[in-house]
Amino acid sequence: MTIQRACCNGEPFFIYCSDDEKQRKTLNSMNQPRKVRIAIQKSGRLNEDSIRLLKECGIEFENGMNKLKSSAINFPMEVLFLRDDDIPKYVEQGVADIGIVGENVLVESSAAVQTIEKLGFGKCRLSIAVPKDKNYSGVKDLEGTRIATTYSIVLQKFLDEKGIKAEIQPISGSVEIAPGIGLADSICDIVSSGSTLFSNGLKEVETVMYSQAVLIAGKCDAEAMRIVDRLLFRMRAVRKANHNKYVLLNAPNEKLEKICSLIPGMKSPTILPLAEAGWSSVHSVIEEDKFWEIIENLRDEGAQGILVVPIEKMVI
Ligand code: ATP
Ligand code: ZN
Repeated sequence: MTIQRACCNGEPFFIYCSDDEKQRKTLNSMNQPRKVRIAIQKSGRLNEDSIRLLKECGIEFENGMNKLKSSAINFPMEVLFLRDDDIPKYVEQGVADIGIVGENVLVESSAAVQTIEKLGFGKCRLSIAVPKDKNYSGVKDLEGTRIATTYSIVLQKFLDEKGIKAEIQPISGSVEIAPGIGLADSICDIVSSGSTLFSNGLKEVETVMYSQAVLIAGKCDAEAMRIVDRLLFRMRAVRKANHNKYVLLNAPNEKLEKICSLIPGMKSPTILPLAEAGWSSVHSVIEEDKFWEIIENLRDEGAQGILVVPIEKMVI
């Protein structure tokens, strides 16, 4: 096996590449074009966002997306719908070439796959929580206690890093009830808002890991790599567009220099003269997370008629 360097939109990623391309030869001998197989969650929190991302990449599927497997009609891709816990292993074994899975599940699986892109959705954290009325002064309070979790490997790594010896109670569901029924002193589980913990009489005391959905890849042959590269190019354009807005505004000519410095855009803003003498229209791109700050500054500098519109795709 070798590791090859691939490149997408100027940004490199590394991918395992199997030396014998038996699978490709078999497919070619049947005159079937190579398709990339992507595994996504069948149902659950990552399912909808994974499908939306593929659709935003312009990939359309035959007969809906409600089966075990679906083929794209305009891109060399097949989607496999699996339980999220199985995805890293299937990608490692080559049943799927790539997959979308939470980082928490990936670390827990210990599968030998590459993370090739963070996808920005499915954001959550794995935390340790103890009963609300328990005094907690720091991680050393976990020494010698029992912690219930479905993420034993992730938790063990955290405890090892902190030099804490605790007993991990592996359970497969309803982790939050474990302290209440006397199974454990605390839990380690996924938290998004904290309301489930609160309603089970628990409080969050330690963050074990932050997680989001990632695109992972196994041993891809050269043809699969080329398709993955095309997919990555599209995914990055979609994500970039989602993080940016197109802004149009009118500005008095004497303020153009200052206003343009606030919205430099991708290369530089577009400036067009208005019919009214002394005024120009300025078009540019701004980042979503700096949106309000920039808009306030533009207004303070005399910009008028500010329009902000979403961008569908952004290729730089
Ligand atoms: P499966 O049936 O496929 O095994 P599951 O019940 O194990 O699914 P889900 O609850 O659907 O898993 O969560 C899937 C992934 O979504 C988690 O592993 C995590 O990465 C992420 N996730 C979980 N909870 C949240 C949340 N509240 N907010 C955002 N992302 C979350
Ligand atoms: Zn699962």
